Amino acid sequence: MKVLLAEKCGFCPGVRNAIKLAQKTLAEEKEVYCLGPIIHNEDVVRRLSEAGLKTVSSIDEVHSGTVLIRSHGATLEELDKIKRKGLKIVDATCVLVKRVQQIARTLNEEGYRAIIVGDKNHPEVKAVVGSAPDVRVVAGPNDLDNLSTNERLGVICQTTQSPDYFAETVAAILKKGFLELKIINTLCRETMARQEAAVKLCRQVDVMFVLGGLHSANTKKLAELCKKHNPQTFHLQNWQELDKRILSGKRTAGVTAGASTPDWVIEDFVRHLQEYSPEEPAL
Ligand code: SF4
Repeated sequence: MKVLLAEKCGFCPGVRNAIKLAQKTLAEEKEVYCLGPIIHNEDVVRRLSEAGLKTVSSIDEVHSGTVLIRSHGATLEELDKIKRKGLKIVDATCVLVKRVQQIARTLNEEGYRAIIVGDKNHPEVKAVVGSAPDVRVVAGPNDLDNLSTNERLGVICQTTQSPDYFAETVAAILKKGFLELKIINTLCRETMARQEAAVKLCRQVDVMFVLGGLHSANTKKLAELCKKHNPQTFHLQNWQELDKRILSGKRTAGVTAGASTPDWVIEDFVRHLQEYSPEEPAL
């Protein structure tokens, strides 16, 4: 089968750095804990866990050793707790996420109410909310109803959202007539480049595969975007999950992957797909 790979896909610099730091720390320290899964990819989490990385959901579970802060970051309260417990910190927060946290604090100091457009349950958003006093999360127009129009709003966005979603939400904010708005683009260009390449590719192929963790926000967003432009889009974690009947009658397949999908998963998928003959009977 003919396979086209998106011009930009797979690990972003933030994720690459977090994994490198995890491997380095595991080589140097005895006890290493990660606050939440290091990235939203089960293959990577499993490999690092086999190498000794312990994933915890709360700092209360850690009593000694080193705590690795993942690329999504941590709240000020969590960082304080780690320091108070005398634990060592290895900070793998992506520089772009740190920038969003800093902007939220600056907006606050300047007298704006910081609002972040995004998913309130995503760890990056939770960390931004916990980095400055009273940051509100806006997932859609309904979340604006609780805000007074006399407010001066400072608007930022979860790094991995799409420009379209940010623009739609900003348009809804504008229509509300708030006293003053300061809008800062905090979208990650790495994510945007993956989204653009994926949309371009999915228009050229019979079937499109988006590889990555089912809980990965940027992978889910990639899959949603591709689905809009090519209904034959499938979000999978790896080759083993592919129902081969999907390939029946297809000549050209496109492949992209989220920022937390490792190269080995992409290479394995592409190789199997290239070797697959559409003439084979459907399983
Ligand atoms: S997607 Fe962007 S913001 Fe998120 S970790 Fe990667 S480089 Fe950083």
